[in-house]
Amino acid sequence: MHNYTKKMQKPQNIIAQISKNLKEKKWNCLVDNCDQIAINSHLIQQNGLLSNITYNGHLVELKMIDANKWDNKKLPFEFGTVGIKHALTHKVFCNKHDTEIFKPIETDDKNFESYEAFLLFSYRAVCAEIRKKEINVEQFTRMANAKSLLGIIDQDFLNSNIEGNKLGIEDLIVLKTELEKEIENNTDKYKHFVHKYPKLEIYASAIFSANDLDYFSHISEPDLDNVYIHFLPLEDNFLILVGYHSEHVSEKIIAFCNSWKNLSLENLQKKLTTLFSSNVENWGLSTELYKEILDKNKSKYIKTLVENENLYGISVEKDFNLFEK
Ligand SMILES: [Zn+2]
Repeated sequence: MHNYTKKMQKPQNIIAQISKNLKEKKWNCLVDNCDQIAINSHLIQQNGLLSNITYNGHLVELKMIDANKWDNKKLPFEFGTVGIKHALTHKVFCNKHDTEIFKPIETDDKNFESYEAFLLFSYRAVCAEIRKKEINVEQFTRMANAKSLLGIIDQDFLNSNIEGNKLGIEDLIVLKTELEKEIENNTDKYKHFVHKYPKLEIYASAIFSANDLDYFSHISEPDLDNVYIHFLPLEDNFLILVGYHSEHVSEKIIAFCNSWKNLSLENLQKKLTTLFSSNVENWGLSTELYKEILDKNKSKYIKTLVENENLYGISVEKDFNLFEK
């Protein structure tokens, strides 16, 4: 490349190039001692779930705006359509493990309300979170090593992000091991709640810390008080699975799990809005439901999401309803 053009490259273009290269990176399967390459695993599977709310093969999810097109004045996220094959997917497991481990929730006689289903969805969410943090570490490391970014991006900022993500991975590995033991031995170590609602064309699957501290403030001990939550669009119902590990629980977590019971549609929508604008970014909705969302609410939602970037723990409910008509 010509030296002159190189000098003219904007930092966001360099970052975009790093992200693009990183997408091509192969990752190993997250099952211990497996050396196979990870395929794209669905957090929520197509058959029996996503297929129930898919029109013309598409769903809608939140995306990062391509840094090449981003002009600083705009917010960094936008809603966009995604093919069902790519809905909530991450490179987590190899083909063999992705098939074998989740067989109980993929077969015809599966029961999504079961304890086993809760454990498996939670396991997949924990592993996806580990992978996302590993990708972050790689991204920030490449940025720190990029000569073209020297002096443009604060190295302390990059280093503290790398450190924060690494600490997060350490906690998540403990949670992953706990879930593996429980899937194997079934000793009722976790508690899960099932809340059922009329059909709602939304899906999500996540794990998040219930403590309102960030990774930098608890370096001495692991943060294991987590909430596991999954929103499943069944053919005729909307199922919420929410729960926790019985040895890593607080009053706040129990109250949160119970708070999803017997809600009016409006209150359910408001709770989902609060959750999706703070704790849970792994979510999506049908193209039909998306059409009903008011433009002013779409922008308000993305603005709230950006404002909450550094918010940790269970959020206080807000009055905002993204899904109001
Ligand atoms: Zn594997």
